[in-house]
Amino acid sequence: MKRRNFFSKMSVGVSGFLGIGLLQARPQNWNAKPKRLTNSPLSIGTWNCPEAIQTSGQLMDQGIPALEAVVKGVAVEEANEDNTTVGIGASPDRSGLVTLDACVMDAKGDCGAVMAVENIVHVARLAQHVMEDTPHVNLAGVGAEEFAYNKGFPKTPLLTPAAEKRWKAWLQKSEFTPEINVENHDTIGMLCLDARGKLSGSCTTSGLAYKMKGRVGDSPIIGSGLFVDNEVGAATATGLGEAVIKTVGSFLIVELMRNGWSPQKACEETIRRILSKKGGKPDFQVGFIAINIEGEKGAYSIHKGFSYTYYKSGKAINVPSASVY
Ligand code: ASP
Repeated sequence: MKRRNFFSKMSVGVSGFLGIGLLQARPQNWNAKPKRLTNSPLSIGTWNCPEAIQTSGQLMDQGIPALEAVVKGVAVEEANEDNTTVGIGASPDRSGLVTLDACVMDAKGDCGAVMAVENIVHVARLAQHVMEDTPHVNLAGVGAEEFAYNKGFPKTPLLTPAAEKRWKAWLQKSEFTPEINVENHDTIGMLCLDARGKLSGSCTTSGLAYKMKGRVGDSPIIGSGLFVDNEVGAATATGLGEAVIKTVGSFLIVELMRNGWSPQKACEETIRRILSKKGGKPDFQVGFIAINIEGEKGAYSIHKGFSYTYYKSGKAINVPSASVY
């Protein structure tokens, strides 16, 4: 797509396009407290994850705080063997090892993450323990795994027979391209806003199928795969992690929202930044979702095929995201 068409399609303002609009875009009522549109809890997650969203939404309806709701919500996908990109049943790296990454961030701005963890299903909960029970933010590999056992997590081999079969078929050719197509990943990033106006988020994944051993993507990187700021809003990402890291995508979306951009426009601008570093139509996918503290939501992706699920009046609703292509 030609640059001119692309920018008009993205419908970002001229000031945003010139990259000088941030300060100008700052709302005049900068010090005013944001107004929530409704006090109903809001839960939103990447891809088609109705059960996970239903779980978090219903928990918040019962008065459970956003952090607990989000960790229990994503746990549904971590335990789902049919989800090949999260938790048990996920695709392994090239050597046949399933390693998981996850992070959480809460309304106070506290956060925790675990990276390249083997044998632990509920890595988002483990990331919460890192946040709450250690002086650190990131724990990786065997250190994270040992910490999990100290916290009473069971050891669970993560490579299921179905995933092993897929990996063995892949080994026949062993062709690895870091690009991921629009459908082969469904990392779950979830954002929850509870009735008290507290935001929390989590992102949990096995990363790219057949990645190099030791590769960690954006999902557990605070600011890239997830960012939460209770004064402003929250964002989370899915897709090719390397591209998300290079723009610190979720942090960028929250900062754009801080400067007055809607969640939708902030997601669009962040996708534009990713594309501005690439000539032409990229063969990888990135998708973002975001909410602001007022309860507005946004989603945008490079290619068609990305969708998100949100909770409304007791129901989980899946909708396709707008996209550039
Ligand atoms: N963002 C994840 C990663 O790069 C992949 C995904 O979203 O499926 O590790």
